[in-house]
Amino acid sequence: MNQFDTIIIRFGELYTKGKNKKDFVNRLFYNMKNNLDNEGIKFIKAHDHIYLELEENVDKENLISQLKNISGIYSFSLANKIDATEENIIESSFKLLMNASKQNTFKVYTRRIDKTFPINSDSINRLVASKILKNSHYKVDVHHPDYLLSIEIRPHFAYIFLETIKGLGGYPSNTMGGALMLISGGIDSPVAASLLLKRGVHLEYLHFASPPYTNVAVIDKVKDLLNVISSNQNHVYLHIVPFTKLQEEIYRHVNESYAITIMRRMMIRIACKVVKNRHLLATATGESIGQVASQTLESMRVISGVADEVIIRPLATYDKVEVIKISKEINTYDISIRPYEDCCTIFTPKQPKTKPHLDKVLAFENKFDYASLVDECVKNIETIRLK
Ligand code: ATP
Ligand code: MG
Repeated sequence: MNQFDTIIIRFGELYTKGKNKKDFVNRLFYNMKNNLDNEGIKFIKAHDHIYLELEENVDKENLISQLKNISGIYSFSLANKIDATEENIIESSFKLLMNASKQNTFKVYTRRIDKTFPINSDSINRLVASKILKNSHYKVDVHHPDYLLSIEIRPHFAYIFLETIKGLGGYPSNTMGGALMLISGGIDSPVAASLLLKRGVHLEYLHFASPPYTNVAVIDKVKDLLNVISSNQNHVYLHIVPFTKLQEEIYRHVNESYAITIMRRMMIRIACKVVKNRHLLATATGESIGQVASQTLESMRVISGVADEVIIRPLATYDKVEVIKISKEINTYDISIRPYEDCCTIFTPKQPKTKPHLDKVLAFENKFDYASLVDECVKNIETIRLK
């Protein structure tokens, strides 16, 4: 890594957002100020970029790894701020390249944002390149250079940089409204949550607990998962549904092979009520097409039939291997694989329906007063505010 004193932040995808762009940039600016260890950093918001000017004591490696985790950042460059004189730009650019680990080729790319600067971009490119060519073994490669030496000239000063790092992309957190994530403690749901967070969706979480069939350790596991995936949120709401009684009633009245289908319909009914109560815009799950009996399209159709809110399934098309890969990247995998009993696994029937019939489902549901049990679940939710 070269020495640098400034980081230039780009927001890529936000450009497509027209008049919303200003709000998005403001939110990103706010999120960065709030979530970075910001001592010794001066935050500057400009029309097209955000700049971080760093004092010497800033832990730069730590800052870079934090920036990689902030959604809405498309890329960022590690730059040096210099006085914008012709001689200084040439000298500093030359030094920057000389200090880089030796490669063979380079290209100079100048943006003259200050149009009053007396030399145009092409001429600066040529002046800098000729200094380098005369005084080093480097050659120019305009198509695939080892180093792209970028120069950005602003009023009074310029930025020069070689290194650009890819960001997380997506949208800044809290710019897309809120959703209720059904979180189990398994591998899939935390990954689904992280994909939604990256899209700027704010999340609250709903967990179905069935004590004494499920253990309190599951709740700790869910909390640990939320701590990892929501490290960029100031606080997080986890709603815990006491699900035991409703589940027992399901198993009393419903043929075993239909129990999971109906249990899932109850989960969705409860989730939709919570979505309304919490003024959220959607509910979300970690389901993936075909993964288990309740996740065939036929099952999803019968289960979604009870929803009067949108259900988002970020992993619908993902293979388990892809999901595991992401869960390792976002550091949830080791928590997710801790052994636990989910409310779905404890009553797992030998032959769950992969193609449930709606008329049968309705006949089973008619056998008991599920509506008041659903209301009771919602009424008795315990909400925990984490962090
Ligand atoms: P994971 O548990 O990681 O989601 P899975 O393959 O075990 O993966 P299922 O158990 O089939 O998935 O559950 C599908 C989805 O239903 C989960 O992704 C989650 O969104 C929701 N879900 C399952 N169990 C619970 C629970 N106890 N509380 C809240 N949501 C749950
Ligand atoms: Mg599960």
